[in-house]
Amino acid sequence: MSTPAPTRSTAPSPLELGHFIDGKPVAAATGARHGDVYDPATGELRAHVAFASAAETRVAIAAARAAFPGWAKVTPLQRARVLFRFKGLLETHIDELARLITLEHGKVLSDARGEVTRGLEVVEFACGIPQLLKGEFSEDVGSGIDSWSIRQPLGVCAGITPFNFPAMVPMWMFPVAIACGNTFVLKPSEKDPSCPLRLAELLAEAGLPAGVFNVVNGDREAVDTLLTDPGVDAVSFVGSTPIAEHVHRTAAQHGKRVQALGGAKNHMVVMPDADPDRVANALLGAAYGSAGERCMAISVAVTVGDAAEPLIAALTKKIAGLRIASGLEPGAEMGPLVTREHREKVRNYIALGVTEGAKLLIDGRGHTVPGHENGFFVGPVLFDHVERHMRIYREEIFGPVLAIVRVGTLAEALELVNEHEFGNGTSIFTNDGRAARVFAHGVAAGMVGVNIPIPVPMAFHSFGGWKRSLFGDMHVHGPEGVRFYTRLKAITARWPTSGAGTAEFVMPTMK
Ligand code: NAD
Repeated sequence: MSTPAPTRSTAPSPLELGHFIDGKPVAAATGARHGDVYDPATGELRAHVAFASAAETRVAIAAARAAFPGWAKVTPLQRARVLFRFKGLLETHIDELARLITLEHGKVLSDARGEVTRGLEVVEFACGIPQLLKGEFSEDVGSGIDSWSIRQPLGVCAGITPFNFPAMVPMWMFPVAIACGNTFVLKPSEKDPSCPLRLAELLAEAGLPAGVFNVVNGDREAVDTLLTDPGVDAVSFVGSTPIAEHVHRTAAQHGKRVQALGGAKNHMVVMPDADPDRVANALLGAAYGSAGERCMAISVAVTVGDAAEPLIAALTKKIAGLRIASGLEPGAEMGPLVTREHREKVRNYIALGVTEGAKLLIDGRGHTVPGHENGFFVGPVLFDHVERHMRIYREEIFGPVLAIVRVGTLAEALELVNEHEFGNGTSIFTNDGRAARVFAHGVAAGMVGVNIPIPVPMAFHSFGGWKRSLFGDMHVHGPEGVRFYTRLKAITARWPTSGAGTAEFVMPTMK
């Protein structure tokens, strides 16, 4: 039941994007509100995306609710086989999915392919669900009594996801959730909804029963319905910190299990013994890849001792060679920002940094790409002498803006990172094993790289930050994902051979 995804050349313009509910595409209700989706490289309107009302959102929740008992009864092995077919379809359609991402997000095609691959790896992990759901068993916890624990699905799970990874972040969630026997309602970002809709079609093509996976497009109205409706059992959120807090608080107040991943300001500590050329290469990708629109992007380089000058010399040379172009352009290394409004926000932060007294070494505000003058481009930006009181240091900019903060010692660097309100990812570049160990053990962040600029855990580990980068108890995917999407049941059993036994009035202690 695959509907070929419209491409820019064949589809009417703008596209009209609806929802995917109960196994089929659903058009927007008459008179429904909608959002505009732009091609960031050209600035052209690409699509209208429907904004689901509370009532339309409830239709998706009801479809997921109705599908739950049947899907929970499908054996883990059979559920894994559906996911295995889905994995095959992701492989076959990777170029199409990557193109949809690039057309609406702006990131370069190679990066979009990488994103799909990182999502596919979670599907591969979820294919191991029969093994992952194996419980624990104790023989003879008492005389003739055995005890075992099992993990069972929760019911209907909701996922609310950000614009910056329209394929990968939904795939951090739903493969594990549905492998565990839950059904799912996804509310993707309204800025780039085509890829998530296509994923829903591919899941149906893989044989997933209707209602197990649903997509509702929308804004706050759809989100708040998912957070408050009694038909939803658990909520996974990824996005900015203020919304993560709102989601965490509201969903918890309504009795739901919730994990809400928020924003970031990731520091890379550069020790004086690190090779400046290697660090500059690592920073180039980590700060400017995907135009800095990554929750694991490095936005602060903390130079220790005399590390700053050689690093700046290497970095400025490399920045000059960065290929900024439409993401569809072969060889492009950095594309545009996602929307005109976001470009304005990033430009305003650059102006603010100058006002705050940071030294602007490279200014990307005037950058234009020939043939794409209306695209939402900002060139790479490099600030030196950034200080901890400045807003460009404290706040998440989410653009191609790298701040250099100079400190004297590793202890000062550690204190700086640990004082920041966010604690998503961080890294240290050094040849000194002791310094690396002190940093890795002492730093208050959820994901740490040693000579790795973006330490995103693989699918079989779990992803998540500390402090105000994550609200809730559990990280996503990997073993934590299985724990999040299941609840534990402990069963204690005796099979008496004969006799009625005796009444017991004291706390049972196993004999
Ligand atoms: P966002 O918070 O604006 O939106 C995320 C989701 O919330 C979207 O689906 C959006 O429609 C919805 N939303 C927006 N405003 C809402 C409101 N008032 N009420 C209810 N729902 C609302 O985030 P974004 O701009 O799409 O994504 C960028 C942010 O996501 C950055 O802060 C980035 O650091 C963060 N992010 C974090 C991680 C992580 O793992 N910690 C990963 C990716 C992105």
